[in-house]
Amino acid sequence: MIAGLAITVQDKVQDTVQEVMQTKVNLLGLTEVGLSDYMVSLGEKPFRAKQIMKWIHHMGVSDFNSMTDLSKGLRKTLSEQAQISAPEVVSQLDSVDGTRKWLLRVGGGSCIETVYIPEPGRGTLCVSSQVGCSLDCSFCATGKQGFMRDLSAAEIIAQLWLAVGSFNGFDPARKYADGEIGRITNVVMMGMGEPLLNFDSVVAAMNLMMDDRAYGLSKRRVTLSTSGVVPMLDRLGEVSDCSLAISLHAPNDKLRSELVPINKKYPIAMLLDSAQRYINGLSDNKRVITIEYTLIDQVNDSLELAEQLVELLRDVPCKINLIPFNPFDLSDYKRPSNNRVKAFQRVLNEAGFIAPIRTTRGDDIDAACGQLAGAVLDRTNRSARYRLKSRTALNGSDVEALVVDGPKSEADSDNILARG
Ligand code: SF4
Repeated sequence: MIAGLAITVQDKVQDTVQEVMQTKVNLLGLTEVGLSDYMVSLGEKPFRAKQIMKWIHHMGVSDFNSMTDLSKGLRKTLSEQAQISAPEVVSQLDSVDGTRKWLLRVGGGSCIETVYIPEPGRGTLCVSSQVGCSLDCSFCATGKQGFMRDLSAAEIIAQLWLAVGSFNGFDPARKYADGEIGRITNVVMMGMGEPLLNFDSVVAAMNLMMDDRAYGLSKRRVTLSTSGVVPMLDRLGEVSDCSLAISLHAPNDKLRSELVPINKKYPIAMLLDSAQRYINGLSDNKRVITIEYTLIDQVNDSLELAEQLVELLRDVPCKINLIPFNPFDLSDYKRPSNNRVKAFQRVLNEAGFIAPIRTTRGDDIDAACGQLAGAVLDRTNRSARYRLKSRTALNGSDVEALVVDGPKSEADSDNILARG
């Protein structure tokens, strides 16, 4: 069981506090336009938004009374009517390889996960967009958790805000030495959830990530990863110029529909067309699509499938990330041997593709790709169904009742998880 998962008095108090706080406007997730509009609604000049953004995102300040370039009157009004509020950090785990994972409480007994991965010359934050996920990809721990709700823009940007703060990154005196862990140069919307199914909040949060008044990350370094919600991908091109990753995992529709069920609705050809339209519409022509391909032993890792992948992507400007499957409870899939992974990579390399093998990071804290599960009060009953199927030491009658009727409460959901 994940630490802090059982419903406790603390959960209840936290939910009550959140209910009260929800009546206040949370400024953390507002873009400059939204914050300017809010200032005007208070009878203030729009430029106040710039000052407040600097306090929040450059200095990590959450107390309006510390915003000394605002008038006392405005500080008082903001204290009464607004808040700068991030989810509570339930736990922060550090891997021996420098990876850091946070479990964040988002109310109603649910938690999400965020992961920081340091690499030479860069640091990547993997950010969640939903509490669980409705899409149920067969190789993904999040999918097995079912779905609770979308995250707000504030809850999404809060993951970056908290991560920067946890490394003292708001301290102007903080200098990063070469190779030092803590600098966040890249964000991937690749944590829990399908970002394009939470479109408005994800776009708002990514705009803040790329805004110089907030985090000023390069548009090349903020990447949205999608399993293929084609109509929303077409819309994305109208409002964002972030980088794009496609969660592909198979070179033909038959296999992909088994691994990524949304493929039945939006098959590969339709998805790749949409992705190419998106990339072609960007103002710079140097960017390519990142193709994510999780290699699962004896499922999608044969040389024949590698050759199919070469044919499929021959005219697509892309690089291919190969991700050896990371095993987790509730999945029978296995990680392929290094020899199989390298043989698959060789076929791609010989055809001229850049195809790095992503090394597993944060294995010791369950932070590896595909392993993020958080704790989800599942509205879909999916998590109970998977647990029933895997017969993991559960009392069958309880689970059957939950499968038929669904969890009635946070306690139901947590009891299942606690015993699972
Ligand atoms: S891989 Fe992504 S879209 Fe698929 S179930 Fe997992 S979180 Fe959802």
